[in-house]
Amino acid sequence: MTTDGNMALSSEKWSWKFFDRVAGLDSKKIENCFSCGACVGDCPAAKNSSFNFRKIIYDVALGEEEKVLSSKEVWYCFQCFFCMNKCPWRIGIPYIISRLRRMALERGYGWDLLEILSGVGRNLVESGLSISPRDYARLDPKKAERELTEMRLEMGLPEKYEVSSKAMEELKVILKETGFSEELEKLNKNVKEFKKCSENY
Ligand code: SF4
Ligand code: SF4
Repeated sequence: MTTDGNMALSSEKWSWKFFDRVAGLDSKKIENCFSCGACVGDCPAAKNSSFNFRKIIYDVALGEEEKVLSSKEVWYCFQCFFCMNKCPWRIGIPYIISRLRRMALERGYGWDLLEILSGVGRNLVESGLSISPRDYARLDPKKAERELTEMRLEMGLPEKYEVSSKAMEELKVILKETGFSEELEKLNKNVKEFKKCSENY
């Protein structure tokens, strides 16, 4: 890794301590990162938020542990793996983000955002849609409905969104067999316990 915008990463500032723990098995690969930006260019999280993997890894390399782990940005990644296919070195960015999230939770950061993410999982189990139009519509139902309809028509989809009962049955089997439902239950339990502990603190 060499630069981030105009900022050169000088060897005096480099810190291996945090970097090694974050990089894990990808350690050697990450050293090859030459800030080409391919992982950011097509990243859906970067398009819709302040998330930028290059900046995160730059701060990691500088040993900015507290700054990185307390940031909201590490929770913005969708884990879509798009970046990994784009990266010339096939750096395991989503795995690195997962590792950062685990480290953040151990420090008590990010539990509120984890609760939101577990809600996305719950939506999927209950309705077959990870982002429920009902939730989106809470902000401004009429505007949301209009925008969703326009988007769907532009994409050549039917006007109304619906998950057929056959698709729901198949989804239930997939979620059960892959262990998703079980893991989600554990996650919800952990979030509840953490909230209870912090309320009593
Ligand atoms: S695509 Fe790979 S090499 Fe390029 S900036 Fe992203 S992580 Fe680094
Ligand atoms: S896995 Fe995360 S970082 Fe990679 S493209 Fe998807 S949202 Fe962006």
